[in-house]
Amino acid sequence: MLREERLDLLAREGGTLNPSGSVRVALLYPNPYSVASASLGYQVVYRAFNAHPEIACERAVLPDNIHDGQTLVTLESGHPVGGADFLAISLAYEPDIANVFEMLRLARVPVLRSERSPSEPAVIIGGPITMSNTLPLAPFADAIVVGDAEPVMSRLCEVLVEHVANRGALLEALASLPGVYVPERHGDAVPDMLVSPASDLPAVGQTWTPLSELADMMLVEASRGCPRYCTFCVMRASAQPMREAPLESVLAVLDTPAPRIGFVGAAVSEYTHIRAVLRAAVAAGKGVGISSLRADRLDEEFVHLLHAGGYRTLTVASDAPSQAMRGRLKKGLRGRHLLEAATLAAQAKMSLLKMYVIVGLPGETDEDIDELIEFSLELRKLMPRVALGASPFVPKLHTPLGDASFTPIATQDRRLDRLRRGLQGRVELRSVSPRWAWIEYRLSQGGPETGLAAYRAWQAGGRFADYRRAFGDVGVDERRALDAAREHALWAPAGMK
Ligand code: SF4
Repeated sequence: MLREERLDLLAREGGTLNPSGSVRVALLYPNPYSVASASLGYQVVYRAFNAHPEIACERAVLPDNIHDGQTLVTLESGHPVGGADFLAISLAYEPDIANVFEMLRLARVPVLRSERSPSEPAVIIGGPITMSNTLPLAPFADAIVVGDAEPVMSRLCEVLVEHVANRGALLEALASLPGVYVPERHGDAVPDMLVSPASDLPAVGQTWTPLSELADMMLVEASRGCPRYCTFCVMRASAQPMREAPLESVLAVLDTPAPRIGFVGAAVSEYTHIRAVLRAAVAAGKGVGISSLRADRLDEEFVHLLHAGGYRTLTVASDAPSQAMRGRLKKGLRGRHLLEAATLAAQAKMSLLKMYVIVGLPGETDEDIDELIEFSLELRKLMPRVALGASPFVPKLHTPLGDASFTPIATQDRRLDRLRRGLQGRVELRSVSPRWAWIEYRLSQGGPETGLAAYRAWQAGGRFADYRRAFGDVGVDERRALDAAREHALWAPAGMK
């Protein structure tokens, strides 16, 4: 990133920290600045590292344009990332692993843990991806924080400061922390996921900028987890029970210089006090944004508050293409809720109704897609502009549908084509490529060998054909084989181990 570009980003950003500690942590986000600045978790960790008086944590993002000989530098001071004592990486989504490789290359830090010397920065990975599958990251990370980082952040900082100059002692100390996976010490036995208590909430952002995908917003997470049990979702209540911040503590954080408040989380509209905080934000003259809405939680007042806060796209999730499939997913939502959402959006003069849907679910047929077409056209009669966001189903570990297979790419392409033709351009369709979803699937289900295959694919050019070739060398059930081997080791009689 050019110096002028960096200074311009900082000049337009509110909340930038000016850390001064002697232990340097470079906090990487493997996506461009506009995406990084829309991540609440990234901002929370940025503040948590800098809360330690001896740590100076600066951010680094994936450059928009990469040129020959470029060196990755931090945003705050422009120091080379490779000169930091530690690299902390926030990773949200499996295919972004290729951007991690790219950022490490630009930082001149060996991608493979086995090739890094103790004089090079240790790499610590965390983020939402760890709630689903951690093992493919094992060849690249010295340590991985599994699940919510908040419960372990202050102890993690102490360990980094204490063992900055001794890699062996560092790994030993990190391995003793709850929820911290150190592949060199733990092998493939990933510790249990950390789950933040309600007292860690609300989680509040640190920076805001007009250049963010969530422009000018102070991000606020008033609740975490979800009270529901959708069978495809890693945020379902059995894995991530609903935790809520008291109303007063959320109202207190609305007093921010940021012009807008972005309420984020897996199930924002399930927060008990969501209407009260929306009312307060609007009364304070703040714009509002909201990351997820359940159609059955909406009513006239709710949608009116969103509109008063400048919200113009009402986004809801149908998740399944038909009512029968919604039932099978235990979504607990009916078509009439979505039709009512469209009516409310039209009455409030929203400009767009966006509906997310998953395609390629187990047992899906052409008839389900036809029902989706018919239903979308019904929505279009109620609301002048409707867009469908279609994502291929990616089975995630530790969910009831975790063992499902990935619907063949050709079948998904054909169904998406059927959907596009059926909508006749009257409803917009934006779809995630089934090919890239397949890459996500392989990484979601794989182990360390799958991670290494992704690395080979990136080295070969990072095209789909490169991934197909590289993943072809690794069984699709690598992860299950590892789990089975571990179960056997745990349960076999002593003499057989
Ligand atoms: S899909 Fe939404 S409602 Fe269902 S469990 Fe996940 S977060 Fe909750």
